[in-house]
Amino acid sequence: MAVMKFGGTSVGTASAMKQAIRIVAEENKKAVPVVVLSACSGMTNLLIRISEAAGESRLDEAMQMAGDVRLHHLSLVDELITDAQRRERVRQQVEEYVTKLELLVKGVDIVGELTDRSFDSFCSFGELLSTTIFAAALEDAGYDSQWIDVRRVMVTDRHFGTARPLEAVCEKQVQEVIRPVIDEGRIVVTQGFIGSTEDGHTTTMGRGGSDFTAALLGSWLPSDAIQIWTDVDGVMTCDPRMVPEARSIRVLTFSEAAELAYLGAKVLHPDTIAPAVKKNIPVYVLNSHLPDAKGTVITDDSGILEGMSYGGLVKSIAVKKGQCIVNFRSNRMLGQHGFLTEFFSVFARAGVSVDMISTSEVSVSLTVSDTDGIEQLAEELGRMGEVEVEHHVATVSVVGDNLRMSRGVSGRIFSSLKDVNVRMISQGASEINVGFVVEEADVPKAVRNLHHEFFSGDDMQGIFDRPAQHPAE
Ligand code: ASP
Ligand code: MG
Repeated sequence: MAVMKFGGTSVGTASAMKQAIRIVAEENKKAVPVVVLSACSGMTNLLIRISEAAGESRLDEAMQMAGDVRLHHLSLVDELITDAQRRERVRQQVEEYVTKLELLVKGVDIVGELTDRSFDSFCSFGELLSTTIFAAALEDAGYDSQWIDVRRVMVTDRHFGTARPLEAVCEKQVQEVIRPVIDEGRIVVTQGFIGSTEDGHTTTMGRGGSDFTAALLGSWLPSDAIQIWTDVDGVMTCDPRMVPEARSIRVLTFSEAAELAYLGAKVLHPDTIAPAVKKNIPVYVLNSHLPDAKGTVITDDSGILEGMSYGGLVKSIAVKKGQCIVNFRSNRMLGQHGFLTEFFSVFARAGVSVDMISTSEVSVSLTVSDTDGIEQLAEELGRMGEVEVEHHVATVSVVGDNLRMSRGVSGRIFSSLKDVNVRMISQGASEINVGFVVEEADVPKAVRNLHHEFFSGDDMQGIFDRPAQHPAE
């Protein structure tokens, strides 16, 4: 059986939902799936704005936006549900959720403070509403389905906003709550992203957390596939907005996918990988607008990988913008021990996470996200040596398992970058990526040249697909 997760753009409108229903129905011919949904696109952002307005005593504004939540979902109900009685029932359910949302707005307004706990409650309405409507629409289309409140299953710790599951409890709950529904042959429809503490407070697992939910449920169920349905043709060789010749990658190993996610590719939440890797369940990234395109499968399964072995070096190029380089130099470093501990403890105290590092005897260069705290951090580092901060830079990483045994690849990379000002270089310890830093303005040129260097041969059939033509919108 498959766990099928649909992202916000795949359930954001009535026509997107209809398309998702067709995809679920197709899968249902093979085995009953478990369907995990995100909120309709834009809804989580809207709920966050509502929570902020409530916390800042902008009551009218918050209530007006809650009205927009109501309108969006009621119109989905009207467009999707044909049976009059069912339509009335679902309209009432939507009304109940939005009434709760409005009560929460008023409560937070009265208390005058938005806590992490109430923030998660605000966010949860997006997934609760999308799944309620989707489950009813499935039934309306004649499929036997069961809406399940995932909070009965996804029992988490108390880290509101970044909650993590209490796995032993969850596995038991999955057997009790979800398994019997599957065994009856009914399609389960449930929420991504949200969970609950043991004492019943709603939690969320971080933005984009629905992929994680799908992977977790997949790992607790006897599933043979986790399908992530989105609005692009799987994982691409690079950002197609930057390089029109970008292709869709047919197969990635788990380590390549995790590396890409960490290095800035936006397709997958990095944590998605972990539960799937543990159980060796392949993760498919698919395009709900083009369900027949092949998409990308992420797996270490030698059966699937066989026949797709790829002689090239690079699978994908990832870009992370909004970075800055911190260059640090101190003669005190020469022949000293313990200096770097002191140096990095400054970052630890400031809560700044370091991405790429390169060191020599007397200097360290590293990249961090360019945020407000950088100036203060630089000032503190200035007491230990000379500091210089370069803003508006991006890291570009070239990723592929075959880089491990490659010869001459750095030569190819850097000769294709000959007219680009490379500010910093690092070969990841994972040996499957080579990363470097360029000025943001140089990113398109760098990526185009690299793509041309590594992806213009004809030896890649079966491994990369040309992007499918999108139907005219
Ligand atoms: N709706 C949540 C978000 O927008 C979770 C998700 O879509 O995965 O972050
Ligand atoms: Mg997502």
